[in-house]
This record gives sequence, structure tokens and C-alpha cells, in this order.
Amino acid sequence: MSERIFIAVAWPYADGPLHLGHIAGAYLPPDIFARYHRTKGNEVLMVSGSDQHGTPITIKAEQEGKKPGEIAAQYHQQFLDSWQRFGISFDLFTTTGTANHAQVSQDIFLTLLNKGYIYKSTVSQPYCPHCQRFLPDRYVEGTCPYCQSPGARGDQCDECGKPMNPAELLDPRCRLCAATPQFKDSEHFFLRLSAFRDRLL
Ligand SMILES: [Zn+2]
Ligand SMILES: [Zn+2]
Repeated sequence: MSERIFIAVAWPYADGPLHLGHIAGAYLPPDIFARYHRTKGNEVLMVSGSDQHGTPITIKAEQEGKKPGEIAAQYHQQFLDSWQRFGISFDLFTTTGTANHAQVSQDIFLTLLNKGYIYKSTVSQPYCPHCQRFLPDRYVEGTCPYCQSPGARGDQCDECGKPMNPAELLDPRCRLCAATPQFKDSEHFFLRLSAFRDRLL
């Protein structure tokens, strides 16, 4: 009897062209898996899409003097073209920009909020006095405290691969204007992951 196989593939940020690492690491393995199950006569649904939100998109847009929506649409189109040329056989490759995606993610957020699984808390975040805005972690650059590489980002050092937060960077600077950020309190939503501990472990 045929089985139903759902393959949920990682959603790439639409902030630049795909490179070989994307194909070899994230897209070729599920495609092989999907083709195997289709050949076996199983009912396969392989789904992914362009992540059109988040700081990677806004950084790229500011660098190129374009709107975030233009960047996201441009690279989504390139992704579709790449899948076709590589023969990656998605059953659906959508985007986070659809009305359906907005509705489903808002529904998940509100359900969690109403059930008390989302709470507010204050964290210290980098703020650029020159740009007059809070800076997401990728908007802060500086020297890596682990390997001393000068080009580390507030979320990770690409040189040594260590994840970090912006407060750890030596000589932190704003990626937009190179000013030194200050640290200020700002309020955020958090998921009460501890409530799911027993079910997850
Ligand atoms: Zn490093
Ligand atoms: Zn700045």
C-alpha cells in the first residue's frame, strides 16, 4: 500500500544567489529522498519556499539601495530558476510573503499568546545613536572575541564559526554607519519553551 511522505525542506533567505553548499547540504538530499519514494509509488509532498522576511533581506536591500520586497522577489525568482536547472523537484515552492503564510503565522502566534505560552521580557539591545534605531544582531560588526577576526557579525563569526551576541564583540560598530552602538533596554516577545520540556525530552 502506498504511503504518504511529507518532506519539509529548509526555507532559504531570499537575500542572495544559491551556492553549491545550499544544493549539497540542504536541497539535493531531500530531492533524492523524494525521488526514491515517488519511484516506489508513494505519495510525496516536498515543500519549501523563500524566506522573504528578516534582517538578511533588509541588510541586502540597504546595501543595494532597493526595497526589501524587490530583493525578496528578485532572489525568489532566481531560486525558482535554479531548482529548474538543477532538477530539484519541489511539489510546492512558495514564499513567506503570501496571504496564507501571514494568516497561518498570526494564528499560531495568537493561539500561543492566548494560552499563555508567549510572554514579554526586557533585554539589552544594541542601539545606534547616529542612525537612531535598535540594531538587530546582524547589523552589528566587530572583532571576534574568540579568533580576533575583524569581520565578525553580532550573530556569528564566519571565520571561526562561533555563535555570539552583539555584546560579546570587541570594538562593535553599526553596520550602516560605523558608529559605536550603545546598549539600551527593549521589550520583546518570548516563547515559553520550558512549558513544553516534558513533551520534548
Ligand atoms: Zn571568530
Ligand atoms: Zn548607525
